[in-house]
Amino acid sequence: MAEQVLGKATMEKLVSLSQRRGFIFQSSEIYGGLSSCWDYGPLGVELKRNIKEAWWQAMVRDRDDVVGLDSSILMHPGVWVASGHVSEFSDPLVECKNCNQRWRADDLKGDTCPACGGPLTEPRRFNLMFKTFMGPVEDEANVVYLRPETAQGIFVNFNNVLNTTRKKLPFGIAQVGKAFRNEITTGNFIFRSREFEQMELEYFIKPGTDREWFDYWLEERLNWYLRLGIKREHLRPRQHTKEELAHYAIECSDIEYLFPMGWSELEGVANRGSFDLARHAAGSGRSLDFFDEETKEHIVPHIIEPSAGVDRSTLAVLCDAYDEENDKDEIRVVLRFHPAIAPIKVAVLPLSRKEGLAQMARQVYADLRRSWIVQYDDTQSIGRRYRRQDETGTPYCVTIDFQSLEDNQVTIRERDSMNQIRVPIPELKSTLAAKLGGEELFVLPPGGQVWKQETPPGQAR
Ligand code: ATP
Repeated sequence: MAEQVLGKATMEKLVSLSQRRGFIFQSSEIYGGLSSCWDYGPLGVELKRNIKEAWWQAMVRDRDDVVGLDSSILMHPGVWVASGHVSEFSDPLVECKNCNQRWRADDLKGDTCPACGGPLTEPRRFNLMFKTFMGPVEDEANVVYLRPETAQGIFVNFNNVLNTTRKKLPFGIAQVGKAFRNEITTGNFIFRSREFEQMELEYFIKPGTDREWFDYWLEERLNWYLRLGIKREHLRPRQHTKEELAHYAIECSDIEYLFPMGWSELEGVANRGSFDLARHAAGSGRSLDFFDEETKEHIVPHIIEPSAGVDRSTLAVLCDAYDEENDKDEIRVVLRFHPAIAPIKVAVLPLSRKEGLAQMARQVYADLRRSWIVQYDDTQSIGRRYRRQDETGTPYCVTIDFQSLEDNQVTIRERDSMNQIRVPIPELKSTLAAKLGGEELFVLPPGGQVWKQETPPGQAR
C-alpha cells in the first residue's frame, strides 16, 4: 500500500539499483554477507558525503552559535553508566521456543512467533551496546563499549568547548560520526543496521526557553530536508507519547519520512532537559555548568537535540529521487537528485573515439573536473550513456559531436526534462555553474541555442 503512495520506488528496486550502479553493497558479500552491515560504493560514498556536508554547512558553518567536534568512538566506561545506557539502553527480547528466532517484543502484533507461529519466551531486557575490551586482558575491568550515539562525546566535552570558545547560552556543539547498536531485528536495507552514522547537534539553552528552541529546531530540521529536495508530502513531524519517551527525554518529536515500508523515523528532536549534564557532573565529580556573567548565577543548561541518521537520510533521498517513466519501448529509470547532493554533477560524452573529437572531449573533461566531480564515458551508444547517467542521477551531460569541431559548441542535456541546449565551449563552465546553482536550463549563454533533438547529429541510438 505505502509503496503505491510513494510512486514507483520499492525497497527491492532501490537495493538492486544501488548494487548495479555502485551506491551500496552488502558488507563482506564474497563471504556470504554480514547481516545488517552495508558498504557504500563509489557513488554511495559521494552521495553520503554530500548529505553530511549539507548538514555540516547548515548546522555549523552557516551559524555563529554552533561549533563542531569529532570525539572518539571508545570512551571511559563511566560515561555509559552516568548516561543511563548501561541500565536503560535495552529492548525487550523474546525467543521462539520452537524455531529459536529472536524478536523485539514491542514490534510484535500477536503473542506468537511471526516466522513459525510457535510460542514465545517471556520478554527479557537486552542491552543494545556492543562490548569489547581495551588492552590485552579480556576481563570485566577492561570492558569498553562502542558508542551507541555520538551525543555523549559532546556532553563530556562541554567544559572543554566552553572554555576554548567562550560561547554564551544559547549555543550548540555538532558532531557527525559512527554509532553502533546491537539491534535485535534489523532490516529494510540501510534503514536499521548495527553500524550506522549519526549527525547530532546538542544545543545548550537557558532553562525556561525550552519551548521556543524546541519548536525552532523542529522547524529548522524539517526545512533542511526540504532544501535537500525531499518532497513536503513525504515528511511529517510526530510527537512521542509519554510511554514512548526515552529515559532522558522530557519531550520528543520524530521527523518521519514516507519510506516504502510506511512512515518511519528519519530524525528525533528531543528536549533532554538538564539530564545529561547533571548526570555527568555527578558521575565525574566535575561541575558542568555555565556561569552567567550578568546574573552571576551558575546555570545547568537544558539541551535540545536534533539527532539525524546519515544512512536514513541517504535512503530517504534515494527513495524520493527514484522515478521511472515510459520512454519509447523502454522504461527510463531516473534518480532526480537535487544537484547539490548528486554524486556526479556532469558527464562528458564524446560521440566518437575518433581523434580530434576525443581530444576535444578530454580537454573539456579536464577543465570541468577542476570544479566538480565529472565522469568521462565513451562506451556504447549515446542513448545508453544518457540512461546510465540518468540512473546515477547526474544532472547534466555534455555531448561533444562532429559539429563541435567546426563550431566550437557542445550540447548540454538535462536529466529531468531531457531538454538540450547548445553552448559555445568558452561559456560551458559558467553555464553549468549557473544551472547547478538552480538556473533554468533554457537561460542561454551568449551564442547559445536551443537544441531540440535528444540524439545529437551523426549517431543513432
Ligand atoms: P528507532 O526508534 O528507529 O530505533 P531511535 O529512536 O532509537 O530509532 P535515536 O536514538 O533517536 O533513534 O537515534 C537518532 C537517529 O539515529 C534516528 O532518528 C536514526 O536516523 C538514526 N538511527 C538510530 N538507530 C539506527 C539504526 N539502527 N540504523 C540506522 N540509523 C539509526
